[in-house]
Amino acid sequence: MPVCKSGRPAARLVAAGLSLLLAGLAVSQVQAQVLAQVPSQGPSQVRAALTFEQVRALPAPPAVYADEPSLEARLRWLQTRLAGSLDAPERYRSQRLLFSEYYFANRHAEAASLCRQHPPLAEDLLFRAHCILATKSGPQDQLPQLLLLTQEARSRRNPGMEALLLQEIAWRQSELGDIGGAFENLEAALAAAPVSDVGLLTDLMMNTATSYIVNGDEGYVRKGIALLASNRERLARMLEEPTGDIDKAVLRESMQLTEFNRGIAYALHLGDYANALQHFDRVLAEPNPYTEDALAFAALAAAELRQNERARAYLARAGREGTGNAAPAVRQYLSCYRQLAGRRLQPGHALSDCLSLHPDTATEVQLDVYKRLSHIDDPAIALAGLKGLRTLFLEKLEPQLRRRGSTAASNAELRRLQRESEFKSLVLEQQQALQRERDATAAQRQTTFIALSLLLLAVLLLIGLSWRSKKRLAEQFERMSLVDTLTQLGNRRFLEQQVGRELASLERARHRHPEAALGLYLFDVDHFKSVNDRFGHGVGDEVLVELARRLQAVTRDTDLLVRWGGEEFLLVARLDTAQHGSQLATRILEAINGSPFALQRGDALPVTCTVGAVCLPFMPGSDPGLWPELVELADLALYEGKRAGRNRWVMLSNQGLATPESLRQALQQPLAQSLEAGLLGLRSSAEPGD
Ligand code: GH3
Ligand code: MG
Ligand code: MG
Repeated sequence: MPVCKSGRPAARLVAAGLSLLLAGLAVSQVQAQVLAQVPSQGPSQVRAALTFEQVRALPAPPAVYADEPSLEARLRWLQTRLAGSLDAPERYRSQRLLFSEYYFANRHAEAASLCRQHPPLAEDLLFRAHCILATKSGPQDQLPQLLLLTQEARSRRNPGMEALLLQEIAWRQSELGDIGGAFENLEAALAAAPVSDVGLLTDLMMNTATSYIVNGDEGYVRKGIALLASNRERLARMLEEPTGDIDKAVLRESMQLTEFNRGIAYALHLGDYANALQHFDRVLAEPNPYTEDALAFAALAAAELRQNERARAYLARAGREGTGNAAPAVRQYLSCYRQLAGRRLQPGHALSDCLSLHPDTATEVQLDVYKRLSHIDDPAIALAGLKGLRTLFLEKLEPQLRRRGSTAASNAELRRLQRESEFKSLVLEQQQALQRERDATAAQRQTTFIALSLLLLAVLLLIGLSWRSKKRLAEQFERMSLVDTLTQLGNRRFLEQQVGRELASLERARHRHPEAALGLYLFDVDHFKSVNDRFGHGVGDEVLVELARRLQAVTRDTDLLVRWGGEEFLLVARLDTAQHGSQLATRILEAINGSPFALQRGDALPVTCTVGAVCLPFMPGSDPGLWPELVELADLALYEGKRAGRNRWVMLSNQGLATPESLRQALQQPLAQSLEAGLLGLRSSAEPGD
C-alpha cells in the first residue's frame, strides 16, 4: 500500500519524516495486527476446504521468524516451511507472509506472481487489497478495484478494513492530484474507523494531518497541525491509562512522530521556525527513530532564526551521532538541510548535497530545497534552484495538474456508478414528476396561447373598430369642414381646394376647344338684412336655403357652386364659349327673381340678387396664379351692379391689361378709371332680368 507510493520500503519511509513515512507506519501497524492473527502453510491440494477462520486460528509465527532482522533470512525460513508437508491453513499463511515480505520490500513482481499462483481467500480483504496494489501498476487502474473492495468491506461489516481501504484510495487520489477527493476519503476513513482500534485511528489521524500539511493551503496546514496536536494529547492520555494490550513503545513513537511532523509543518510549510524548533526539541529530548531528521531540520530552523550558537549545537550533535540507516535519498536531503543551515552560519558554505538530490526524493522536499536554493546569493546556485523548480514543475506538478481535471471526472464517474443503483428509482420518480410537470406546462402554455391569441384578436378588433369609427369621424369632420351646414353647398374652403383643378382643366380644354371658357359669378342677395329684420333670422335662413336650391337647379353637376359667406354665393361654371357667360348670368337672375320664395309660414317673399361676373380666360396663361385677383374683380363688378340699382348682372372683361401686375394696379383704382383707360370692358344686364 502506501509503501508502493514512492517505491521505497516502509522502514526507510519512516526516516523521511513526511507523509510517506506516516503511510508506511500505518500499514506496518495494521498489517502486524492482522498478520499476527493470520498465519501459515497448507498443501494446495486441500485448498478447496480451506477457510479464513482456520487461518485465523493458527498460533502466531515463531520468534525465530518474527524477530529475524534479515529479509533474506526470513524469506529462506518461509521457503523452507513451504517445502515441508504442511496443512492448508499453515501453507496459506506462509504464502501470505512470503507475499508480504516481497510486497513491503517493494519487490512487486515477485509479490504479484504469488497473488496469481495462490490467490487470496475471499474473506482475506487485506491480502486482496495488497494483491491489487502489487498487480495493478497505476493509480488509475487501482482505484476502481479498491473502490469495489471498500464496498465489499462495508457490506461485510468490516469498518477497520473499510477505513484502511478509504485511506488507500485517498493516497492514490492525492497521487493523481485529486487533493479534494483525497481529503474527503481520509475524513471518511476517520469516520469509519472503529474507536477501539487505537492503532488504526492513530495512523489515520496522522495520515490525514500529513495529507493536509503536504497538500493543502495554509488553512489546511493549520488544520493538519491541530489534528496532530489532538492526536498527541489522545496518545498521551492513553499512555497514562493502565492498559495491558497497547504497546506503550508504539504509543511513545507515535507521539514523537506527531511532534516531528508538527515541526516539519511549521518549518517547511509555514516558515514558522520558532514554533518548529519547540517541536523538534521535544523530539530530541529522548531517543527515537527521528533524531537524525529532527537535528537537521532543527539546525536549519535555528539558523533561519539567527540563533547561530544553537544551530551549531544541533549540527555538532548530528556530526557526533552520525547517520543512521536511512534510505540514500533521505540521507542526501538531510545532509542538504544541514548544509543549508551551515550556509546561513557561514557564507560560501558548500551546498553540494542540495545540488545533487537523489531521484527518489519526495516531491515536497525537492520543492522546499529548490525554493531555498533559488534564494541563495550565489547566482549559479540560485539558477540551479530555479532549474530544479522548473524540472519539478514540468515532470511532476504540471502532469499532476493536467491529470487533475480528468481524474476529477473519472472519480466523479466512479462515484456516480457507486450511487447509481440507489438513485435509479429516485431519478425515475423525478423524471416522471418532471414529465407530469412538462405535460401540465404544455397544457398551460396552450391555454395561455389561446387566451393571448383571443386577447390579441380582441385588441386588433378594437383598434380596427376604433380606426374605422375614427376614419368615419375624420371623414365627417372633413366633409363638415368643406360643406356649408345650412345650404349643404360647398364652402369657401371647398372652392379653394377645387378651383385649381378647374382652372387647369380649362387650359387643357382650350387645346381641344379654343372657345372653351369659365364663368366666375359672385352673387349677393339684395337687401337681405331687411329680410332678417322684417321676418326674423329663421326666414332669412329659409331664403338662403331656397336660393341655393334654385342656383343648383340652373347649374350643372360639373359646376362649382359654393356659399361664399353670409348671403353671398360663388359659381364657377364651364362655358362652351365666352358668349354663354352672360346667358348663364341672366338665367341665374331669373331663377331668383322669376318667382317669389314660398315661405314655410305660408306667404311668399320676392327675392332678388345682384351678380358680378368675370369671364375666363381673362389673361391667357396667367389665370391660375391670378385667382384671388379675379375674385376681387368679380366683387368689383358685383359692387358696380349694386351701385347701378341691384337685381342685375355686371360682367367685366379684359381690354388692355397685359400683365398680372397691371391687373393688380387696376384693382387699386376706381372701376370707372380703368374703364375709361380702356383697360377693362363692362357689360351689364341693362334692365333687371335682362
Ligand atoms: P345689399 O343689397 O347692399 O347687399 O344689402 P344687404 O342688407 O343684403 O347687405 P348687408 O351686407 O348690409 O347685410 C347682409 C346681412 O345678411 C347681414 C347678416 O345679418 C345677414 N346674414 C348673413 N349670413 C346670414 C345667415 O346665415 N342667415 C341669416 N338669416 N342672415 C344672414
Ligand atoms: Mg352682402
Ligand atoms: Mg346683400
